[in-house]
Amino acid sequence: MASRRTFLKKAGVGALGISSLSKASLNEVNKPIVLSTWRFGIEANAAAWKVLSSGGWALDAVEKGVRVVESDPKERSVGLGGRPDRDGHVTLDACIMDEDLNIGSVACLEHIENPISVARAVMEKTPHVMLVGDGALQFALSQGFKKTELLTPASEVEWKNWLKESLYIPKANIENHDTIGMIALDSSGRLSGACTTSGMAYKMHGRVGDSPIIGAGLYVDGEVGAATATGHGEEVIRIAGCHLVVELMRQGKSPQAACEEAVERVYKKQKERIKDIQVGFIALNKQGEYGAFCVQPGFNYAVHDQSGNKLIDSGSRI
Ligand code: ASP
Repeated sequence: MASRRTFLKKAGVGALGISSLSKASLNEVNKPIVLSTWRFGIEANAAAWKVLSSGGWALDAVEKGVRVVESDPKERSVGLGGRPDRDGHVTLDACIMDEDLNIGSVACLEHIENPISVARAVMEKTPHVMLVGDGALQFALSQGFKKTELLTPASEVEWKNWLKESLYIPKANIENHDTIGMIALDSSGRLSGACTTSGMAYKMHGRVGDSPIIGAGLYVDGEVGAATATGHGEEVIRIAGCHLVVELMRQGKSPQAACEEAVERVYKKQKERIKDIQVGFIALNKQGEYGAFCVQPGFNYAVHDQSGNKLIDSGSRI
């Protein structure tokens, strides 16, 4: 008969004892699973799912997934066809992160259709974690990325109309920005995330939002969970949003409760002008549990797991 000690060792419990077994090790983990922001997350998830459902790495899944939206000229807030800054430049921000805190990021990158893949090359092929502007472009070209005109006729017409008044007044739920943020847990239990955007339409040239900032627009901790953000980047950076969400999960909060608390920070600090602010978070933990929350109604996100690919309306603070 096995002694209690042998039994505990076999069960992987060691000195902790049965009462400290986490819920996760008793319950089945919901994997693989992928989540992404907004309605375009459905198509992006479908591409990521091809990787995840064949046992692939979450990092490959999130890169492949967000590339679909980057390359779609009809999506006017990400990659090709993204709205330009006030001077007519389409400048892109993106970052990627794996389960081991490996990170790569590009900001204010012009002329490259898939900035997420440049971010991955920064991660894998340079001693750095972030390249910006001309330096990022030079690096991309050196890696064989092609120079592309990102300003499509539709975005150019809209920008020229905007120039007549040239008023930069970002509003909540007015569709002149949005980001594809994607987080995934693969069948081996590895987490990764990717985040990519053309940022706020008609921003100042050189403006960088939260999306390429590790800890703001995206954060992944392979032991805990992952989070990504969308909305007014300045507000997300102010609270180091996605790092906050992951740290709250580390302290034991569910992904849903962690997103709600991060939104509460934005709400409390910006009460006076909250009607003009939108920030949304999505989060996923190591067990494949997920959640989302935003400041005001209008944000949705897509979830693909074994049960299918669906779009869900996020709960909101106001
Ligand atoms: N967070 C992005 C930015 O500030 C925009 C968005 O997701 O709506 O650049």
